[in-house]
Amino acid sequence: MAVCPACNRCSKRVLSNCLMSSRTFTIAVFAGAILGAALLLLDHPPGLDELMAFLKTLFLSALRMIIAPLIFFSLLAGIVQLGEAYRLRTMGAATAAYYVLTTGIAILIGLTVVTVFHPWTSQPPLVTPVDVPPASLIEAGDDSLIGVLLGLVRTIFSNPFEALANLNILGIVTAALLIGIAMVLVLPRDSAWPGLLQQAAEVVQRIAQWAVNLMPLGVMAVTYELLGSADWNLLQQLLSFCLVVLGATAVHGLIVLPLIAWLAGGVNPVELWRGIARPCIVALTTSSSAAALPVSMAAARDEFRVRESVASFVLPLGATMNMDGTALFEGIAAVFLAHLFGIELSTIDTVVVFMVAMMSSVGAPGIPSGSMAGMQVVLLAVGIPLEAIGILLLIERPLDTFRTAVNVEGDLIGAIVVQRRLRTKSI
Ligand code: ASP
Repeated sequence: MAVCPACNRCSKRVLSNCLMSSRTFTIAVFAGAILGAALLLLDHPPGLDELMAFLKTLFLSALRMIIAPLIFFSLLAGIVQLGEAYRLRTMGAATAAYYVLTTGIAILIGLTVVTVFHPWTSQPPLVTPVDVPPASLIEAGDDSLIGVLLGLVRTIFSNPFEALANLNILGIVTAALLIGIAMVLVLPRDSAWPGLLQQAAEVVQRIAQWAVNLMPLGVMAVTYELLGSADWNLLQQLLSFCLVVLGATAVHGLIVLPLIAWLAGGVNPVELWRGIARPCIVALTTSSSAAALPVSMAAARDEFRVRESVASFVLPLGATMNMDGTALFEGIAAVFLAHLFGIELSTIDTVVVFMVAMMSSVGAPGIPSGSMAGMQVVLLAVGIPLEAIGILLLIERPLDTFRTAVNVEGDLIGAIVVQRRLRTKSI
């Protein structure tokens, strides 16, 4: 029986359970925002400001606590799983190529939109650069090319335990990559490790889900703080950020992915919309790729006649590893927050954002706001203070619905494309 990674129950009950829990979650988040705004009417009674500051720190610290293990185990389990996939040769290679290509295009669209149009530069940054520089991806060295390279090498090849303890993202990613590749090469086929690692990743993702569940409190505190300071400049910038994210997501979901489905999968846009409508509606209403998985599986089989062997490989893997909408969102959000915090991103920083957004979207669990923990990795990568993520909370929920729909659309088109590539082979 298929088991849902979101709630660990059988596929029949999963859908209603996930629908219910994510609806409750969404309602709680909006209630948090309304309550935060309503508390302002009390005109700062003693202790309320401190309580709100405490709740905000509680939420951000819980998220921060889980970043390092989340990235490490999700990546390691993913690599070992993909290693297994490579044993399935063509299917694994075609699937991996599709994931990398489409996620890369999605981030490129996002970064191109913000680099070409500079939507926020007409507005001043929210804060001037902080005196104490935040943790950054690359250890500070001298500014010469060789100095930067040395710093990079030292950061990449650091002791894995040190990397985990110090939240050195590049070190964590390198350790996960090396250990994962070595495992694929060394372990026997019947090794228990892939299963164990998958379970470890699920445990960590569950803890991340608990942290994300604190979001209504975080939203209440952030709404209270932001509306309290009546920063209309910031609200205006947030609105333009939402429009940019929605526009770029629409380009990817309504133009790029359908074109790929047509050219590489042989499915025209009309057939495509007819077939993906149900899973996309489930994604829109649940904000969870995992919750939409059973519906996506049914659509792949019934609407696009994708073989069971292909659907049951590409779709579950895609629900956790292939997130175009998420990667696009993270790329744009990093550039937006960098501007707000007065941090100028160099070309190298932009390349780093590209790579880290791609990796963190792979590590994000397919649950509502699942990418919030990974988003911090992208911020850390270019030296944006982690506090910055609080600003996103106000608009995170509505945006999540659309990016999840694009994530699910991308997974389904992946199954169609991989199926077509394998048509002549009997896998
Ligand atoms: N909600 C997204 C999904 O389930 C993950 C995220 O971007 O937060 O696909």
